[in-house]
Amino acid sequence: MNIMRASHQASTMLPLDRHGRPLHDLRISVMDRCNFRCPYCMPESTYGEHFTFLRNDERLDFDEIARLCRLAAPLGVSKLRLTGGEPLLRPHLAELVARLRRVEGITDLAMTTNGVLLARHASELRDAGLDRITVSLDTLDPALFHRMSGGRGALEDVLAGIEAAQAVGFAHGVKINTVVQRGVNEHTVLELVERFRGTGTVVRFIEYMDVGNHNAWSADDVVPSQALIERIGARWPLQPVPPKYAGEVATRYRFADGAGEIGTIASISQPFCGGCTRARLSSEGKLYTCLFAAHGTDLRSLMREGAGDDAITQRLREVWLHRSDRYSEERAERHGRRKRKIEMHYIGG
Ligand code: SAM
Ligand code: SF4
Ligand code: SF4
Repeated sequence: MNIMRASHQASTMLPLDRHGRPLHDLRISVMDRCNFRCPYCMPESTYGEHFTFLRNDERLDFDEIARLCRLAAPLGVSKLRLTGGEPLLRPHLAELVARLRRVEGITDLAMTTNGVLLARHASELRDAGLDRITVSLDTLDPALFHRMSGGRGALEDVLAGIEAAQAVGFAHGVKINTVVQRGVNEHTVLELVERFRGTGTVVRFIEYMDVGNHNAWSADDVVPSQALIERIGARWPLQPVPPKYAGEVATRYRFADGAGEIGTIASISQPFCGGCTRARLSSEGKLYTCLFAAHGTDLRSLMREGAGDDAITQRLREVWLHRSDRYSEERAERHGRRKRKIEMHYIGG
Protein backbone atom coordinates (compact mmCIF):
# COMPACT_ATOMS: atom_id res chain seq x y z
CA MET A 1 0.00 0.00 0.00
CA ASN A 2 1.47 3.39 -0.91
CA ILE A 3 2.02 6.09 1.73
CA MET A 4 -0.78 8.35 0.40
CA ARG A 5 -3.32 5.52 0.62
CA ALA A 6 -2.19 4.48 4.10
CA SER A 7 -2.49 8.02 5.41
CA HIS A 8 -5.92 8.43 3.73
CA GLN A 9 -7.12 5.25 5.46
CA ALA A 10 -5.80 6.43 8.83
CA SER A 11 -7.70 9.70 8.45
CA THR A 12 -10.98 8.00 7.54
CA MET A 13 -10.91 5.46 10.39
CA LEU A 14 -13.00 6.09 13.49
CA PRO A 15 -10.76 7.81 16.03
CA LEU A 16 -9.86 6.13 19.32
CA ASP A 17 -8.57 8.24 22.22
CA ARG A 18 -5.34 7.56 24.07
CA HIS A 19 -7.01 4.89 26.20
CA GLY A 20 -8.53 3.20 23.14
CA ARG A 21 -12.06 4.57 23.72
CA PRO A 22 -14.26 5.36 20.69
CA LEU A 23 -16.47 8.45 20.39
CA HIS A 24 -20.17 7.54 20.53
CA ASP A 25 -22.10 10.24 22.38
CA LEU A 26 -22.32 13.99 22.15
CA ARG A 27 -24.03 15.97 24.92
CA ILE A 28 -25.03 19.42 23.86
CA SER A 29 -25.77 22.24 26.28
CA VAL A 30 -28.27 24.33 24.34
CA MET A 31 -28.75 26.86 27.18
CA ASP A 32 -26.41 27.92 29.99
CA ARG A 33 -29.25 29.58 31.94
CA CYS A 34 -31.56 27.70 34.27
CA ASN A 35 -34.85 28.43 36.02
CA PHE A 36 -33.63 26.45 39.09
CA ARG A 37 -30.69 27.07 41.40
CA CYS A 38 -30.06 23.54 42.69
CA PRO A 39 -27.35 24.00 45.34
CA TYR A 40 -25.40 21.01 44.01
CA CYS A 41 -25.17 22.53 40.52
CA MET A 42 -25.84 26.31 40.35
CA PRO A 43 -25.94 27.61 43.93
CA GLU A 44 -27.69 30.98 44.31
CA SER A 45 -24.63 32.34 46.13
CA THR A 46 -22.69 32.16 42.85
CA TYR A 47 -25.51 32.35 40.29
CA GLY A 48 -27.39 35.26 41.84
CA GLU A 49 -28.90 38.31 40.14
CA HIS A 50 -25.50 39.69 39.17
CA PHE A 51 -24.19 36.60 37.45
CA THR A 52 -23.56 37.20 33.74
CA PHE A 53 -24.83 34.49 31.44
CA LEU A 54 -24.02 34.27 27.74
CA ARG A 55 -25.62 36.74 25.33
CA ASN A 56 -27.87 35.17 22.68
CA ASP A 57 -25.27 35.70 19.96
CA GLU A 58 -22.62 34.01 22.09
CA ARG A 59 -24.56 30.75 22.10
CA LEU A 60 -24.24 28.42 19.14
CA ASP A 61 -27.21 28.87 16.84
CA PHE A 62 -29.17 25.90 15.47
CA ASP A 63 -27.25 25.90 12.15
CA GLU A 64 -23.97 25.66 14.05
CA ILE A 65 -25.18 22.90 16.37
CA ALA A 66 -26.64 20.89 13.48
CA ARG A 67 -23.46 21.34 11.46
CA LEU A 68 -21.25 20.04 14.28
CA CYS A 69 -23.54 17.04 14.76
CA ARG A 70 -23.45 16.28 11.03
CA LEU A 71 -19.64 16.37 11.13
CA ALA A 72 -19.37 14.38 14.38
CA ALA A 73 -21.58 11.50 13.17
CA PRO A 74 -19.02 10.08 10.69
CA LEU A 75 -16.47 10.06 13.54
CA GLY A 76 -18.67 7.63 15.48
CA VAL A 77 -21.31 9.75 17.21
CA SER A 78 -24.68 8.02 17.06
CA LYS A 79 -26.26 9.35 20.24
CA LEU A 80 -27.09 12.98 21.01
CA ARG A 81 -28.41 14.35 24.29
CA LEU A 82 -29.70 17.91 24.64
CA THR A 83 -29.10 19.37 28.06
CA GLY A 84 -28.10 22.57 29.83
CA GLY A 85 -28.62 24.61 32.02
CA GLU A 86 -32.27 24.07 31.29
CA PRO A 87 -32.75 23.06 27.64
CA LEU A 88 -36.45 23.98 27.59
CA LEU A 89 -35.51 27.62 28.17
CA ARG A 90 -34.07 27.65 24.65
CA PRO A 91 -36.74 29.10 22.36
CA HIS A 92 -37.99 26.83 19.55
CA LEU A 93 -36.09 23.80 20.82
CA ALA A 94 -38.38 21.41 18.92
CA GLU A 95 -37.04 22.92 15.67
CA LEU A 96 -33.53 21.89 16.67
CA VAL A 97 -34.79 18.40 17.58
CA ALA A 98 -36.36 18.05 14.13
CA ARG A 99 -33.10 19.10 12.46
CA LEU A 100 -30.96 16.76 14.52
CA ARG A 101 -33.41 13.93 13.81
CA ARG A 102 -32.49 14.25 10.14
CA VAL A 103 -28.71 13.95 10.72
CA GLU A 104 -27.53 10.73 9.10
CA GLY A 105 -26.07 8.25 11.58
CA ILE A 106 -27.92 9.51 14.66
CA THR A 107 -29.89 6.62 16.09
CA ASP A 108 -30.71 8.00 19.54
CA LEU A 109 -31.83 11.53 20.31
CA ALA A 110 -32.38 12.32 24.00
CA MET A 111 -32.92 15.24 26.34
CA THR A 112 -32.39 15.86 30.08
CA THR A 113 -34.64 18.48 31.66
CA ASN A 114 -35.78 19.62 35.08
CA GLY A 115 -39.30 19.09 33.73
CA VAL A 116 -40.88 22.37 34.83
CA LEU A 117 -41.75 23.40 31.26
CA LEU A 118 -42.22 19.89 29.94
CA ALA A 119 -46.01 19.64 30.15
CA ARG A 120 -46.37 22.33 27.50
CA HIS A 121 -43.60 20.97 25.22
CA ALA A 122 -43.82 17.16 25.50
CA SER A 123 -45.98 16.55 22.46
CA GLU A 124 -44.09 18.88 20.08
CA LEU A 125 -40.79 17.30 21.18
CA ARG A 126 -42.13 13.81 20.53
CA ASP A 127 -43.53 14.92 17.15
CA ALA A 128 -40.16 16.47 16.25
CA GLY A 129 -38.52 13.08 16.78
CA LEU A 130 -37.07 13.10 20.29
CA ASP A 131 -36.53 9.43 21.20
CA ARG A 132 -36.16 9.61 24.96
CA ILE A 133 -36.46 12.01 27.81
CA THR A 134 -34.91 12.09 31.27
CA VAL A 135 -36.52 14.26 33.93
CA SER A 136 -34.55 15.18 37.04
CA LEU A 137 -36.53 14.69 40.23
CA ASP A 138 -34.77 14.44 43.58
CA THR A 139 -37.70 13.95 45.95
CA LEU A 140 -41.51 13.77 46.20
CA ASP A 141 -41.55 15.91 49.34
CA PRO A 142 -42.86 19.29 48.05
CA ALA A 143 -41.03 21.44 50.63
CA LEU A 144 -37.74 19.59 50.20
CA PHE A 145 -38.15 19.70 46.42
CA HIS A 146 -38.59 23.47 46.58
CA ARG A 147 -35.44 23.77 48.71
CA MET A 148 -33.41 21.46 46.43
CA SER A 149 -34.36 23.59 43.42
CA GLY A 150 -32.88 26.61 45.18
CA GLY A 151 -36.33 27.94 46.09
CA ARG A 152 -37.48 28.17 42.47
CA GLY A 153 -39.32 24.99 41.55
CA ALA A 154 -42.73 23.51 42.35
CA LEU A 155 -42.97 19.72 42.55
CA GLU A 156 -46.43 19.68 40.95
CA ASP A 157 -45.08 21.27 37.74
CA VAL A 158 -42.41 18.60 37.38
CA LEU A 159 -44.89 15.80 38.07
CA ALA A 160 -47.21 17.30 35.45
CA GLY A 161 -44.26 17.32 33.03
CA ILE A 162 -43.50 13.65 33.72
CA GLU A 163 -47.15 12.69 33.28
CA ALA A 164 -47.32 14.58 29.99
CA ALA A 165 -44.19 12.80 28.75
CA GLN A 166 -45.59 9.41 29.79
CA ALA A 167 -48.90 10.24 28.09
CA VAL A 168 -47.48 11.35 24.72
CA GLY A 169 -45.00 8.44 24.75
CA PHE A 170 -41.37 8.51 23.63
CA ALA A 171 -39.96 5.66 21.54
CA HIS A 172 -37.21 4.88 24.08
CA GLY A 173 -39.17 5.93 27.15
CA VAL A 174 -39.09 8.34 30.06
CA LYS A 175 -36.53 8.11 32.85
CA ILE A 176 -36.08 9.91 36.15
CA ASN A 177 -32.65 11.11 37.41
CA THR A 178 -32.35 11.44 41.18
CA VAL A 179 -29.23 12.89 42.79
CA VAL A 180 -28.95 11.50 46.31
CA GLN A 181 -27.27 13.57 49.01
CA ARG A 182 -26.61 12.25 52.47
CA GLY A 183 -28.75 13.95 55.08
CA VAL A 184 -30.70 15.88 52.41
CA ASN A 185 -33.00 13.58 50.40
CA GLU A 186 -31.76 10.05 51.08
CA HIS A 187 -34.71 9.43 53.43
CA THR A 188 -37.17 10.01 50.55
CA VAL A 189 -35.69 7.45 48.15
CA LEU A 190 -38.10 4.59 48.92
CA GLU A 191 -41.09 6.84 48.30
CA LEU A 192 -39.71 7.70 44.85
CA VAL A 193 -39.15 4.05 44.04
CA GLU A 194 -42.69 3.17 45.12
CA ARG A 195 -44.23 5.93 43.00
CA PHE A 196 -42.60 4.81 39.74
CA ARG A 197 -42.49 1.03 40.27
CA GLY A 198 -44.71 -0.63 37.71
CA THR A 199 -45.15 2.50 35.56
CA GLY A 200 -42.46 1.69 32.97
CA THR A 201 -40.57 4.83 34.02
CA VAL A 202 -37.11 3.88 35.30
CA VAL A 203 -35.63 5.84 38.22
CA ARG A 204 -31.85 6.16 38.25
CA PHE A 205 -30.07 7.20 41.41
CA ILE A 206 -26.96 9.30 40.83
CA GLU A 207 -24.18 9.68 43.35
CA TYR A 208 -23.67 13.33 44.25
CA MET A 209 -20.63 14.51 42.27
CA ASP A 210 -18.01 17.22 42.65
CA VAL A 211 -19.06 19.00 39.43
CA GLY A 212 -17.96 22.61 38.91
CA ASN A 213 -16.22 24.60 41.63
CA HIS A 214 -19.06 25.97 43.74
CA ASN A 215 -21.14 23.20 45.31
CA ALA A 216 -18.97 22.64 48.43
CA TRP A 217 -18.90 18.93 47.63
CA SER A 218 -17.55 16.57 50.22
CA ALA A 219 -17.13 12.81 49.87
CA ASP A 220 -19.08 12.48 53.15
CA ASP A 221 -22.23 13.75 51.37
CA VAL A 222 -22.21 10.86 48.89
CA VAL A 223 -24.50 7.89 49.52
CA PRO A 224 -22.76 4.96 47.81
CA SER A 225 -25.06 3.29 45.29
CA GLN A 226 -24.42 -0.14 46.78
CA ALA A 227 -25.84 0.97 50.14
CA LEU A 228 -28.88 2.42 48.39
CA ILE A 229 -29.49 -0.80 46.46
CA GLU A 230 -29.30 -2.80 49.69
CA ARG A 231 -31.88 -0.49 51.26
CA ILE A 232 -34.25 -0.66 48.28
CA GLY A 233 -33.66 -4.40 47.84
CA ALA A 234 -34.64 -5.05 51.46
CA ARG A 235 -38.11 -3.65 50.67
CA TRP A 236 -38.52 -4.90 47.09
CA PRO A 237 -36.09 -7.73 46.19
CA LEU A 238 -33.87 -6.83 43.23
CA GLN A 239 -31.90 -8.81 40.65
CA PRO A 240 -28.95 -7.38 38.69
CA VAL A 241 -29.52 -6.91 34.95
CA PRO A 242 -26.54 -7.41 32.61
CA PRO A 243 -25.47 -4.24 30.72
CA LYS A 244 -27.16 -3.67 27.33
CA TYR A 245 -23.87 -2.56 25.79
CA ALA A 246 -20.21 -2.17 26.79
CA GLY A 247 -19.62 1.08 28.67
CA GLU A 248 -23.21 1.48 29.93
CA VAL A 249 -23.09 4.16 32.62
CA ALA A 250 -26.00 2.97 34.74
CA THR A 251 -25.94 -0.30 36.66
CA ARG A 252 -29.39 -1.83 36.24
CA TYR A 253 -31.56 -3.92 38.55
CA ARG A 254 -34.98 -5.46 38.01
CA PHE A 255 -37.65 -5.94 40.64
CA ALA A 256 -37.99 -9.67 41.34
CA ASP A 257 -41.79 -9.27 41.26
CA GLY A 258 -41.70 -8.00 37.65
CA ALA A 259 -42.54 -4.34 38.43
CA GLY A 260 -39.80 -3.00 36.15
CA GLU A 261 -36.28 -1.67 36.72
CA ILE A 262 -34.22 0.87 38.58
CA GLY A 263 -30.62 1.95 38.02
CA THR A 264 -27.67 3.55 39.76
CA ILE A 265 -24.95 5.80 38.43
CA ALA A 266 -22.04 5.28 40.79
CA SER A 267 -19.53 7.74 39.34
CA ILE A 268 -17.85 8.29 42.73
CA SER A 269 -17.77 4.83 44.29
CA GLN A 270 -17.34 2.87 41.03
CA PRO A 271 -15.91 5.20 38.36
CA PHE A 272 -16.54 4.10 34.78
CA CYS A 273 -14.02 6.21 32.84
CA GLY A 274 -12.69 3.09 31.11
CA GLY A 275 -15.89 2.87 29.04
CA CYS A 276 -16.54 6.61 28.64
CA THR A 277 -17.36 7.45 25.04
CA ARG A 278 -18.86 10.93 25.62
CA ALA A 279 -17.88 14.38 24.40
CA ARG A 280 -19.64 17.56 25.49
CA LEU A 281 -20.42 20.71 23.58
CA SER A 282 -20.94 23.84 25.68
CA SER A 283 -23.56 26.48 24.90
CA GLU A 284 -20.80 28.76 23.59
CA GLY A 285 -19.40 26.10 21.30
CA LYS A 286 -16.48 24.66 23.21
CA LEU A 287 -15.87 20.94 22.98
CA TYR A 288 -14.96 19.15 26.23
CA THR A 289 -13.89 15.55 26.47
CA CYS A 290 -14.79 15.13 30.15
CA LEU A 291 -17.49 16.41 32.50
CA PHE A 292 -14.69 17.55 34.78
CA ALA A 293 -12.42 19.13 32.16
CA ALA A 294 -10.89 22.55 32.79
CA HIS A 295 -10.36 23.46 29.11
CA GLY A 296 -12.39 23.08 25.93
CA THR A 297 -11.69 23.51 22.22
CA ASP A 298 -13.33 26.59 20.71
CA LEU A 299 -15.33 25.36 17.72
CA ARG A 300 -17.52 28.47 17.52
CA SER A 301 -14.58 30.68 16.52
CA LEU A 302 -13.47 28.12 13.99
CA MET A 303 -16.93 28.08 12.40
CA ARG A 304 -17.45 31.84 12.57
CA GLU A 305 -14.04 32.46 10.99
CA GLY A 306 -15.26 30.48 7.99
CA ALA A 307 -13.58 27.09 8.43
CA GLY A 308 -14.72 24.45 5.96
CA ASP A 309 -16.18 21.06 6.90
CA ASP A 310 -12.86 19.26 6.41
CA ALA A 311 -11.02 21.58 8.80
CA ILE A 312 -13.69 21.18 11.46
CA THR A 313 -13.76 17.40 11.06
CA GLN A 314 -9.99 17.39 11.38
CA ARG A 315 -10.18 19.40 14.62
CA LEU A 316 -12.84 17.09 16.07
CA ARG A 317 -10.74 14.08 15.20
CA GLU A 318 -7.58 15.57 16.73
CA VAL A 319 -9.36 16.48 19.95
CA TRP A 320 -10.60 12.92 20.36
CA LEU A 321 -7.27 11.33 19.40
CA HIS A 322 -5.52 13.41 22.10
CA ARG A 323 -8.08 12.69 24.81
CA SER A 324 -6.72 11.04 27.93
CA ASP A 325 -9.36 12.07 30.54
CA ARG A 326 -10.20 9.74 33.40
CA TYR A 327 -11.08 12.25 36.11
CA SER A 328 -13.31 10.04 38.25
CA GLU A 329 -10.77 7.26 38.37
CA GLU A 330 -8.10 9.83 39.27
CA ARG A 331 -10.37 11.30 41.95
CA ALA A 332 -10.53 7.86 43.52
CA GLU A 333 -6.73 7.70 43.35
CA ARG A 334 -6.50 11.21 44.92
CA HIS A 335 -8.87 9.99 47.69
CA GLY A 336 -11.58 12.48 46.80
CA ARG A 337 -9.54 15.69 46.47
CA ARG A 338 -10.97 18.13 43.87
CA LYS A 339 -9.38 19.94 40.90
CA ARG A 340 -10.52 23.15 39.17
CA LYS A 341 -12.89 22.53 36.22
CA ILE A 342 -15.64 23.85 33.91
CA GLU A 343 -19.10 24.54 35.40
CA MET A 344 -21.73 21.88 34.70
CA HIS A 345 -24.46 24.19 33.37
CA TYR A 346 -22.16 25.18 30.49
CA ILE A 347 -21.67 21.61 29.36
CA GLY A 348 -24.61 19.73 30.83
CA GLY A 349 -24.75 16.55 32.92
N1 SAM B 1 -31.43 21.28 33.97
C1 SAM B 1 -31.55 19.97 33.47
C2 SAM B 1 -31.83 18.99 34.59
O1 SAM B 1 -31.64 19.33 35.75
O2 SAM B 1 -32.22 17.88 34.28
C3 SAM B 1 -30.38 19.49 32.63
C4 SAM B 1 -29.01 19.86 33.09
S1 SAM B 1 -28.50 19.14 34.61
C5 SAM B 1 -26.89 19.81 34.77
C6 SAM B 1 -28.24 17.46 34.14
C7 SAM B 1 -28.21 16.46 35.26
O3 SAM B 1 -27.09 16.70 36.07
C8 SAM B 1 -29.41 16.50 36.17
O4 SAM B 1 -30.02 15.23 36.23
C9 SAM B 1 -28.83 16.88 37.51
O5 SAM B 1 -29.52 16.30 38.57
C10 SAM B 1 -27.42 16.35 37.40
N2 SAM B 1 -26.50 17.00 38.32
C11 SAM B 1 -26.29 18.33 38.50
N3 SAM B 1 -25.39 18.56 39.48
C12 SAM B 1 -25.01 17.34 39.94
C13 SAM B 1 -24.11 16.90 40.94
N4 SAM B 1 -23.41 17.75 41.67
N5 SAM B 1 -23.96 15.57 41.12
C14 SAM B 1 -24.67 14.68 40.37
N6 SAM B 1 -25.52 15.03 39.40
C15 SAM B 1 -25.71 16.35 39.19
FE1 SF4 C 1 -30.59 23.77 36.66
FE2 SF4 C 1 -30.43 21.21 36.13
FE3 SF4 C 1 -28.42 22.45 37.37
FE4 SF4 C 1 -30.68 22.10 38.68
S1 SF4 C 1 -29.32 20.50 37.92
S2 SF4 C 1 -29.52 24.02 38.56
S3 SF4 C 1 -32.17 22.24 37.08
S4 SF4 C 1 -29.08 22.82 35.33
FE1 SF4 D 1 -15.99 10.26 31.34
FE2 SF4 D 1 -14.67 12.20 32.61
FE3 SF4 D 1 -16.80 11.05 33.76
FE4 SF4 D 1 -14.50 9.68 33.52
S1 SF4 D 1 -14.84 11.50 34.74
S2 SF4 D 1 -16.59 8.92 33.07
S3 SF4 D 1 -13.76 10.47 31.54
S4 SF4 D 1 -16.81 12.27 31.87
